[in-house]
Amino acid sequence: MNQETAQQALAEAQACLARGELDAGLLAATRAATQATDPATRVRAGWLQALFTFRRGDYPGVLAMAEDLSPMLRAHSSDDLRELQRIVAFSGAEIGRFDLALAAAYEVHALAEATGQPGPLSQALNTLGICFERMGDPWQAERLLREALAIAREGAVPRELFGALNNLCAVLIGTYYLQRGGEVTAASLAALERALPLAEEMVGLNGATGDPYWRIISEGNLGEILVHLGERDRSRALLDSTLAEALRLGFGPQAERVNCSIAEWALRHAVPEQARDLLLAMLAKAGDRPLTPMTELRAQHALYQAHKALGDTAAALRHLEQHSDLLRERIVQQLRAQSEQFITRVEAEQSRREVERQRARAQSLEADTRRDPLTGLGNRRALDHHLPALLRDAAAAGRPVTLAILDLDHFKLINDRHGHLVGDRVLVAFAQLLRECVRQADLVARIGGEEFLAVLPNADESRAREVCERIRQRVAGHDWAALAPGLAVTLSAGLASAPPYDETALSTRADQALYRAKALGRNRVEAG
Ligand code: GH3
Ligand code: MG
Ligand code: MG
Repeated sequence: MNQETAQQALAEAQACLARGELDAGLLAATRAATQATDPATRVRAGWLQALFTFRRGDYPGVLAMAEDLSPMLRAHSSDDLRELQRIVAFSGAEIGRFDLALAAAYEVHALAEATGQPGPLSQALNTLGICFERMGDPWQAERLLREALAIAREGAVPRELFGALNNLCAVLIGTYYLQRGGEVTAASLAALERALPLAEEMVGLNGATGDPYWRIISEGNLGEILVHLGERDRSRALLDSTLAEALRLGFGPQAERVNCSIAEWALRHAVPEQARDLLLAMLAKAGDRPLTPMTELRAQHALYQAHKALGDTAAALRHLEQHSDLLRERIVQQLRAQSEQFITRVEAEQSRREVERQRARAQSLEADTRRDPLTGLGNRRALDHHLPALLRDAAAAGRPVTLAILDLDHFKLINDRHGHLVGDRVLVAFAQLLRECVRQADLVARIGGEEFLAVLPNADESRAREVCERIRQRVAGHDWAALAPGLAVTLSAGLASAPPYDETALSTRADQALYRAKALGRNRVEAG
C-alpha cells in the first residue's frame, strides 16, 4: 500500500474537519485508516473517523469504533486517547450507556491530571459534568462545570473555554426542562437566566475558534434559551439561520435540536400546526439514525402540546404516552447508573479500608518481630535494623556515638532467691528505668536475658559515662524491696565510643569493658 496516499487522505480529512464537512471528512479519514501502514497515521486517522462519526451524531458508532481504537491509542498517544475517551464519554452519556461513559470520563480525568495543564483538566471536569447531568444529577454537574469553566478562564485555549461554556449551558438548559413541568416556574427560568450570558459569550468566541461545528452549537444554544425567555424575533432569526447551516453541513443532531427549538417557538407563538408539521417531518426522516433520547423526548412532548392545542386529543394522548414511555426508560437507565455508581463507590471505600487494615496488620506484625515481648523494648532484630544506619549517619556527620552494654549483676542469684517471676518483674522495671534515663534519639534494646544495649548518638565517652552512671545509680537506689522483701539489684556497664564507626569493633570493646566492670566488683561503669 502507498504510504503517501494515506498521508494525503489524512490531510484531506483534516481540511474537511476545518471546513465542517462531515461526510467527506469521514470518507477521507476512513481511506487514511485503511491505507496507513505506520501506527502513527493509523491511530490519527482512526481518531478522526471517530470524531466525524461523533459529530454526525452516530453515538453507537463512536462506541463501537472506540473498542478497537482505544487500546491502540493507549499504547501510542495519550493526547489522542484523552480526546477519544472524551467523545466516548459524551456518546455513552447521550444514549444512556453510562457504564461506558463514566469509565471513559474517569480515564480522561486521570490522563488530564497527568498532563498537569489547565486546559485538559478543565475538559476532564467538563466530561464528568456532562455524564452526571445525563445521569440525572444536574446539581453535581453544574458544580463540576463551573469548576471547569473557572480553570478554563485561567489558562485554557479558546476551544477549551468554549467547551466549558457549552457544557455548562447545556446543563442549565437541561435544568430548565427538568424543573419546568407543565408550567414555567421561577426556578426553571432562573436556570435559563444563568445560561444566557454563557451562550452570549460563546457566540462572541466564534471568531476565535473559526470552527463551524462550534458556531452551530453556540447559536443553537442561544436561540433555544431566547425562545424560552420569550425573545420572539431574535430567537427565531437565530434558529432559522442555524438550522440552515446545520443541514447544509450535515450536523444531524444539532439540526434536530434546533428543529425542536423552532417547534417550541411555534407553540409559544400560537402556530401549533407549524410545530406539528416540523416535528412529524423530522421523526419521519430520522429512520437510519435514531434521534438522541433528549431530542426525542423534547419532540414527543412538543407534539403532544401541538396536537392538544389543535384539538386532536387522540394524537395528543398518543404522543404523551410515547413521551412518558421514553421518560420512564431514561429514568430507569439513570437510576441504574446512579445505583451502580453508588455501589462502586461503596466497594471502592471497602477495599480501600481492607487494604489499609492489611497494611496496618503487616506493619504491626513486623513491629512485633522487632520487639521484646517481656519488656516492650526493641530486641536484637530492632538493633540490626537501626544500628547500621545510625552509625553511618554519625560517621557521615563526623559525630561521636557510644555503645553501652548494661548487664544486671548476679541475676542468676536473683532468680534463685526470689523466683523467676520476680526476676521477670525486675527486667520489666529495669526496662522502664532505662527508658526514663535516655533521650528520644537514643536506641535501647534487650539483647540477651538480663543484658541490654544502649546506643547514644551525639554522646562521646565522657557524656556516655555520665548517662550510664545515672542509670547505674537509679538502679542501685531503686526501691526493689517493694517487689520482693530483701531484693536488691545493681548493674554493670561497659561502653565504647566511636570513631571508629565499626559495629563489630565497638561491640567487642564494650563487651571487654563490661567484663572488666564485672571483674572489678560489679555495680560500676567501665569504658573500653
Ligand atoms: P553476672 O553478674 O556475671 O552477669 O551474673 P549473672 O548471674 O547475671 O549472669 P549469668 O549470665 O550467669 O546469668 C544470667 C541469668 O539470667 C541466667 C538466666 O536464668 C537469667 N535469665 C535470662 N533470661 C531471663 C528471663 O527472661 N527471665 C528471668 N527471670 N531470668 C532470665
Ligand atoms: Mg548478669
Ligand atoms: Mg549476662
